[in-house]
Amino acid sequence: MKTPNNRPVGVLAIQGDFERHAKMLERIGAPWELVKHASDLEGVGGLIMPGGESTTMLKFFANEGLGAAVRQLAAEGKPIFGTCAGAILLAREVLNPPQDHLDLIDITIERNAYGRQIDSSVRGGDCPELSDRPVEMVFIRAPIIRRVGDNVRVLGRCDGLPVLVEQGSILAATFHPELTEDETIHRYFLKKLSH
Ligand code: GLN
Repeated sequence: MKTPNNRPVGVLAIQGDFERHAKMLERIGAPWELVKHASDLEGVGGLIMPGGESTTMLKFFANEGLGAAVRQLAAEGKPIFGTCAGAILLAREVLNPPQDHLDLIDITIERNAYGRQIDSSVRGGDCPELSDRPVEMVFIRAPIIRRVGDNVRVLGRCDGLPVLVEQGSILAATFHPELTEDETIHRYFLKKLSH
């Protein structure tokens, strides 16, 4: 699967689960490159922000000027996909506790919202516009989307909760699509690169 102009998908690689995203992109034949510094964003056609620890990522954002560079990428209309911690960074409002964020998608998201007992689980969810089969969803110390703005589309639900949401060029998932064999979500993100 090619990207428009064959520009690579950037995979933010400062912390967290970036290698599995790169493997998934490799598997579906999309060019990719790791992004560690703001200058690495110059040639990319879009960006994946992986799961990990959002507080740690925020420190790098401040030190490296990466936050401003990611906002610039969004302003250029380049698609950005945040998974779990990545989704937390993209949100308009973060709870438990409140923390800095990029405000690129109009959602309120609560960190570590499934509690300690079930801090990891694999569940079946539905993304009816993307797939007619259930999508396997891996949740790891996952957040819950508590509010969805009027201009945000819910593309996926699990146990009645929104888990995959989209606003324009921005896509956010509270689960880890890179940890399963299911290519649905990454293929959908690649399609966004051609708009
Ligand atoms: N609990 C993490 C955070 O708040 C997110 C966990 C994940 O990305 N799997 O940043």
